[in-house]
Amino acid sequence: PGAPLAVVDPGASFCWLLVGLVLVVARKPPRWRLLVAAGAVGAVLLGSHAAWMRWRSDRLDAVFLSVGHGDASIVRLPGGRVAVIDGGGRGRGRLVVGPMLRRMRIARIDYLIVSHVQSDHWPGALELAREFGVGELWYSGGACSNADFREALARLRESGTRIVDAGSGDPIVRSGLQGWLLRVLWPPGGSGSCDDNDRSLVVEASFAGTRILWTGDIEETAEHRLARRVARADILKVAHHGSHTSSSAAFLAAVAPSYAVVSVSKYNRFGLPDEKVLARLRQAGARILRTDRDGAITAAVTAAGPSVNPAKRL
Ligand SMILES: [Zn+2]
Repeated sequence: PGAPLAVVDPGASFCWLLVGLVLVVARKPPRWRLLVAAGAVGAVLLGSHAAWMRWRSDRLDAVFLSVGHGDASIVRLPGGRVAVIDGGGRGRGRLVVGPMLRRMRIARIDYLIVSHVQSDHWPGALELAREFGVGELWYSGGACSNADFREALARLRESGTRIVDAGSGDPIVRSGLQGWLLRVLWPPGGSGSCDDNDRSLVVEASFAGTRILWTGDIEETAEHRLARRVARADILKVAHHGSHTSSSAAFLAAVAPSYAVVSVSKYNRFGLPDEKVLARLRQAGARILRTDRDGAITAAVTAAGPSVNPAKRL
């Protein structure tokens, strides 16, 4: 009693198969067998569609999940590799991100990325590492006083996960034959702490001319230095949950996002997102989407560009 049990949304194909089996067992007359055959064909077609969606090479899918105060995103790269960028606070990996991964038929995370070691970003990510295989874990490196985080890294290293210090200044770039690119733009290296907002990993995913930028909780100092090297992005995960300490006008002018995703809790004592930040985002020409009002936000990127939709309005 009380033990957690992970269940997968069975999907329409499984349900069709189940119906078919029940009918076979019932040994109905021939016309029923015809229905069984039709059900089986339907199941195969739907199963093939699910597999195609999971592994298709002509589309990148990004999901910005609604995890209250915190960040969590899933990126299914063309060809099937998977990145998870932050996992939200305690419980959010197990209860929000994990179920979505299973729904997307994902069993392994190739790149588990922790933007920085603060309680609204990393605990959920490492919950996922207990349930899913993890190829590489990227984090911002530096001095890390968080014993729980350090222990989790040691366990992962023992189980074969490659731990990548993405704050060392060495270029971190992954790419696929399908033309996708995943890379770390920030921090530039040097000493610092793994829980420093301004050393949050800034990650860019690009495919077919569309760029998506995740900025963790960077603040104005980091933005100022990054603005000189950052390219325009179509979709921006707004830094620091829409806090007034981030999203400076100069940074937004450099990024010029068409869509701005604010990952924020409906009930927060910080008054986030800040009205001035929302005004600056509008001024920069961005359409604002918020996880507190819109729920999860999905972005499907193809050669035709990005299609961005809030889950609640799907
Ligand atoms: Zn945060």
